[in-house]
Amino acid sequence: MARVAVKELVKRFGKVVAVDRVSFEARDGEFLVLLGPSGCGKTTTLRLIAGLETPDEGEIYIGGRLVNDLPPKDRDVAMVFQNYALYPHMKVYDNIAFPLRVRKLPREEIDKRVREVARLLRIEDLLDRYPRQLSGGQQQRVALGRALVRQPQVFLMDEPLSNLDAKLRVYMRAELKRLQRELGITTIYVTHDQAEAMTMADRIAVMNEGKIMQLADPAELYYRPANTFVAGFIGAPAMNFIDASVRQRDGSVMLDTGVFTVELPEHVGKILLESGAPSEVIFGIRPEHIDISKQELPGGYQVEVFVTEPLGAETIIDFKHGDTLVKAKYPGHFEATPGEKLWIRFKLEYAHIFDKRTGKAIV
Ligand code: ATP
Repeated sequence: MARVAVKELVKRFGKVVAVDRVSFEARDGEFLVLLGPSGCGKTTTLRLIAGLETPDEGEIYIGGRLVNDLPPKDRDVAMVFQNYALYPHMKVYDNIAFPLRVRKLPREEIDKRVREVARLLRIEDLLDRYPRQLSGGQQQRVALGRALVRQPQVFLMDEPLSNLDAKLRVYMRAELKRLQRELGITTIYVTHDQAEAMTMADRIAVMNEGKIMQLADPAELYYRPANTFVAGFIGAPAMNFIDASVRQRDGSVMLDTGVFTVELPEHVGKILLESGAPSEVIFGIRPEHIDISKQELPGGYQVEVFVTEPLGAETIIDFKHGDTLVKAKYPGHFEATPGEKLWIRFKLEYAHIFDKRTGKAIV
């Protein structure tokens, strides 16, 4: 087990700054996820830690030791990739045993460790098969076994579940999480899938354009996103963003969206004014934090249904706000036809207000 820390890490590829002054620490035994859209620098960050890339600037520490100048094999990390790259001509047993044979461990020790790992991964019955005789999920487990058998201090995983079908992916998420908990190995896991990140991570570093936008636990990212990027990236359907102007009247503070006037709770208005009160803000509200009804809702607004998306357990109702669509999520089936008038009401205790200029959260 070990802490992993990176400090002011920079990696450039020609003109592209793939990793732009990234600093974070994965605690001992932690499951840390690097989450972000394609090209944001997640994989490069992981490869820098593994020693597969050399940083242009910054420091990498594993277990308190500066490893910048250590080759990958001496960093005591194991990496699992999206494509499992098993040796097709070797049986499962030999695939798993391979890294230990390279290290010339005694035969009995190898056998003991391979069987232990196989038991942990529940693949004892598969040791005699060739990779082509395995399902995707089984192959992935063998790949994990090959990484685990070395008993590394740190696991580095790059989208290891993305080649699996949806059902197996969800199953393997839980399996992998269980395994990580059981072994307590510090794990840094790369994904662009926010559901995967939210379900597996102790903490998540949300990245964009080579930078960390916020590092926090899943609940904090959901309830207290630091900026519009994180707010829009975490949650599905995404948070609604509505441009608004701040107005004050008779001691209360309101947001004027041009369509609605939202009167803010007193303490929220106060925070907004004390923040230096930018006049233009973005009002952020998640679809699940909008009440919706056919009957009039006190403190609500009347809207016209644009389209409904019935998903079974819930219904997404889109309505137009000027030129943008706002989505509301109803927990259940909701029958509505386009053009129909409905009432909505914002659950203001869950609303967010961002500075329009910087995108940073104010409330
Ligand atoms: P994805 O989810 O698509 O794998 P990512 O977040 O992992 O994306 P990286 O693979 O780290 O992103 O890439 C970050 C940026 O660096 C991208 O603009 C990418 O094109 C660039 N990049 C990565 N590797 C190289 C390379 N070997 N040569 C040139 N540019 C690279």
